[in-house]
Amino acid sequence: MLPWTTYDALSAAATDQPETFWLKAARRITWEQAPLSTCRARADGWHDWFPDATLNTCHNAVDRHVEAGRGEQAALIWHSCATKERQSVTYRMLQSRVAGFAGGLRALGVQKGDRVLIAMPGMIETVVAMLACARIGAVHVVVFAGYAGPELARRIEDVTPKVVIIASCSFQRQTVIPSAPVLHEALAIAAHRPQACIIVQRDACPAVLLPMRDHDFHALERSAPVAPVMLRAQDPLYILHTSGTTGRSKGVVRDNGGHAVALALSMDLIYGCKAGETFFTTSDLGWVVGHSYGVYAPLISGCTSVIVEGSVSASALRTLCHDHDVRCLFTTPTQMRLIRQESRHLSCANLPALARVFVAGEYADPTLLDWARSHFQKPVVNHWWQTETGWSITTHFFGLPEQESASLMNEIGRPAPGFRPAIVRSRPDEPCGEIVLSLPLPPGCLAGMWKEGGIRAPATCLDETGQYYRTFDEGMIDDDHVIHMRGRSDDVIKVAGRRISGVQIEKIIAMEAGVHSCAVIAVPDGLRGERPVAYVVLETGFNIAPSAEKIIRQVHQVLGRWVGLREVRFVERLPTTVSGKIIRKALTLTSETKETRQGSVQTVLS
Ligand code: AMP
Repeated sequence: MLPWTTYDALSAAATDQPETFWLKAARRITWEQAPLSTCRARADGWHDWFPDATLNTCHNAVDRHVEAGRGEQAALIWHSCATKERQSVTYRMLQSRVAGFAGGLRALGVQKGDRVLIAMPGMIETVVAMLACARIGAVHVVVFAGYAGPELARRIEDVTPKVVIIASCSFQRQTVIPSAPVLHEALAIAAHRPQACIIVQRDACPAVLLPMRDHDFHALERSAPVAPVMLRAQDPLYILHTSGTTGRSKGVVRDNGGHAVALALSMDLIYGCKAGETFFTTSDLGWVVGHSYGVYAPLISGCTSVIVEGSVSASALRTLCHDHDVRCLFTTPTQMRLIRQESRHLSCANLPALARVFVAGEYADPTLLDWARSHFQKPVVNHWWQTETGWSITTHFFGLPEQESASLMNEIGRPAPGFRPAIVRSRPDEPCGEIVLSLPLPPGCLAGMWKEGGIRAPATCLDETGQYYRTFDEGMIDDDHVIHMRGRSDDVIKVAGRRISGVQIEKIIAMEAGVHSCAVIAVPDGLRGERPVAYVVLETGFNIAPSAEKIIRQVHQVLGRWVGLREVRFVERLPTTVSGKIIRKALTLTSETKETRQGSVQTVLS
């Protein structure tokens, strides 16, 4: 039972007595040497969490649950959206596979602190490899399995891994993509050469193993098992490259101790999910949500985690939730829009175990959230995240007995414990500005950036005083601590000196029936400096579709004519990052050549 009944009590405990708060939170973790102190400044200006403590994250995620009698409980349930295979692995099986594979890595010369690059789709083996690294103190670097040779080479050069692990193929929908040619190309380009490559052989397209270089994953799993090694809380657990939403891709380093504490607390406090219950995230394991809520948080908490390979269809999602009594579902607005598109005749109302649905990663308009609430007949909320923070900065707290107001449910919520946001306004009379976070950041956030072979303080994320972490997101904070998000700072449009975020306009367009998704960008305007242009994707097979005139009228009615929306472009699709987020900058660059619906660009003058 959590000791707080209201958000205000929780917030006061974390703010007024952070030392007591985090030492209590740390009791959820099994330590070799329990922490006596919480946060310590480092010589490089950043900070370490629980610097006097030692633990092993893999022990916390696997072994301790077997010791506590959960050995026969499913730890992982895997579904491939491409091959339709499904597998379930108990905690006892996971322990045996992870301990064996850790022994295999050791036999290949992998030591504590060495990097192991894992370029695999969402598979059980990906989790086994991650946990095996954690077991021996190696630092895993999971990268998106769909990268082409040069992208993979860049990451190999950045982290200089001792070993690279791939699956023999991945899938793009149902199409088999062999991975060996990509690996060969990457290794031919990269200046760094790993000592060995490990390949998970898949029936759809087994690879030819190169003698002296390649090893079979499943054979290595049968190596002599090794026990978890004890690590300092601040030792690195993993490096994860950002998707590029928050600037140029960079390697975020996560520690062991702070990460375990923050994630364990969040499962109870935020997601209301307890040991023995099932958590399902649709995110790729190569992104932060896949790391935190596909793998570490559910396993550290003794839950069952459902993971998927590929983009899950509405019917597969329903079946997985139903068959595995999913308690909490975590997905993205993009995935939710796809589910909406497919789900006209499919109800998700009869899922008795499902308690709530979370989305994150990009703006979710209230219309989408309302649709999801009626579809699942459960609370659906959005919360705000960055790869750098590792868990939600602002969120909703289903572990607290206090009920949130309906209006709050459409916002990204209130700060999670230890996050202390402030607004930096560009004009004193404006309520909105860049959201910055007071340092130190809470446990679970970045332990630094990976640069030139080591962990460095994240200087590029700090403001000029060195006191604040810059999120580069815009918003405002209201009197109830609720953050109202306006999108990335560079997505703000300045019309005749007045600022409006693209998200504010998108929110109104998304409410029009027949709109699947939309993005608003700024283009130069001779008179007013900038003006917005809207890109709209319509739902397929929907009879009613709004006209450009109707959209413009609606936006002006809600926000005022000063907004100056004159142009609506109907397009087939919006450009997205590999993690599925809309890239507005790409629209700016390609807006003249973008493929349009039925070849038409509708431009309307107001
Ligand atoms: P990434 O690190 O790639 O996951 O991207 C983080 C960025 O995604 C944030 O800085 C936001 O701009 C955006 N983002 C994440 N969650 C949300 C959300 N719930 N609502 C709006 N934007 C979000």
